[in-house]
Amino acid sequence: MNVVIVGAGMAGVQTAVALREQGWAGRIRLLGAEPHQPYDRPPLSKAVLLGKAEGSAFEVDFASLGVEVELGVEATGLRAADHQLDTVRGPVDYDVLVVATGAEPVRLPGSEDVPGVHLLRTLDDAQRLRPLLVEQRGIVAVGAGWIGAELATAAREAGCEVTVVEAADRPLAGAVPAEVAAHMTGWYADAGARLLTGARVAALEEGAVVLEDGTRLSADAIVVGVGARPATGWLAGSGIELAPDRSVATDDRLRTSLPDVYAVGDCASFPSARYGERLLVHHWDNALQGPKAVAANIVGAGTETDEGVYDPVPYFWSEQFGRFVQYAGHHADDDELVWRGDPAGAAWTVCWLRGGVLVALLAVGRPRDLAQGRKLIERGAVLDRGRVGDAGVPLKAA
Ligand code: FAD
Repeated sequence: MNVVIVGAGMAGVQTAVALREQGWAGRIRLLGAEPHQPYDRPPLSKAVLLGKAEGSAFEVDFASLGVEVELGVEATGLRAADHQLDTVRGPVDYDVLVVATGAEPVRLPGSEDVPGVHLLRTLDDAQRLRPLLVEQRGIVAVGAGWIGAELATAAREAGCEVTVVEAADRPLAGAVPAEVAAHMTGWYADAGARLLTGARVAALEEGAVVLEDGTRLSADAIVVGVGARPATGWLAGSGIELAPDRSVATDDRLRTSLPDVYAVGDCASFPSARYGERLLVHHWDNALQGPKAVAANIVGAGTETDEGVYDPVPYFWSEQFGRFVQYAGHHADDDELVWRGDPAGAAWTVCWLRGGVLVALLAVGRPRDLAQGRKLIERGAVLDRGRVGDAGVPLKAA
């Protein structure tokens, strides 16, 4: 039996590793479009960008695992009836296919061919940006999301002049509510970066970002960080079911609508019984945990073990402006928000409760809250509201 994994990022690599860990003895081929040895992405906006690390290749001994890594092989189509992939190097047969093609950054229309406009998704992107930081060039980042904040952090640390333009009225508008984001806005100024909110980009030109109000911001380099979309364009015409957000729509075992085809990581969404909705998670931990479920389903085909059901408590972290920011769970707008600690200070946590049950938390410089809270979320524990609000006592079930 031959497993073919398309996409040699975190999710693809971890699928290969998990298959061997769980006893898969058949052939494993790992196909990746990029020419580089498979590498980890989080360091790209941190140590790699600052030159503190040359690269971030995974420390996985593919040869001893018996995993055939094939680089520079982009998949271009899928013909499920034939159990065959089309690639730039010709057709590839599979018995089981795992789609792990991740996500690709959203580009601003018309910016594709403008010199000096950068993205930050790949090792090549980070290596193109790095000399500009060394030369302390003036940088304008478009988007004050996770990537924009991390880029601004690194660029300020390198001594660059940094302006971040954000169309919304606050940073991280898609991720946290206004009352939480309000306490993050000042982080930019404290680090010496200029944050312009409510600033809509009209055009990107060589050397300048032009805003809709006519403001022209000079920039040696422009970095666009306005989100990422599942890299699923190559599946057009394959008949695979996609969700409206273009992710591969899987079931709770990460099986797709096509026989013997799974999908995992940034390219896939799954129905969460825990949260009662379909989730598309673009974070590292999802690309680490999902593959374990995929491997359990492939190895135990037909047995439907519990290990194959994927319903995680999502988790991610971000390092911005000298702060370690962590989030676990998934909250909705109408969940009750409870503060732990002073948000004007260096360390604080926000908890979201639904009917007294902890469903999510955001911890800034409070990793213990995160660790304790994550376990409580997994258990669906009811918390005492007064105790949650007391940063001096550990988070604990009521
Ligand atoms: P990817 O990492 O995108 O890998 C997919 C691979 O598939 C790519 O190498 C791509 O080239 C390849 N591919 C695509 N199409 C094809 C095709 N047709 N044929 C063959 N190969 C193909 N998450 C956190 O939780 N914390 C962080 O601090 C954090 N920092 C990040 C910093 C940066 C700069 C970036 C970009 C992401 C960061 N993330 C972070 C998110 C995290 O890295 C991703 O969630 C994770 O990489 C997803 O893994 P993946 O394997 O699903 O997708």
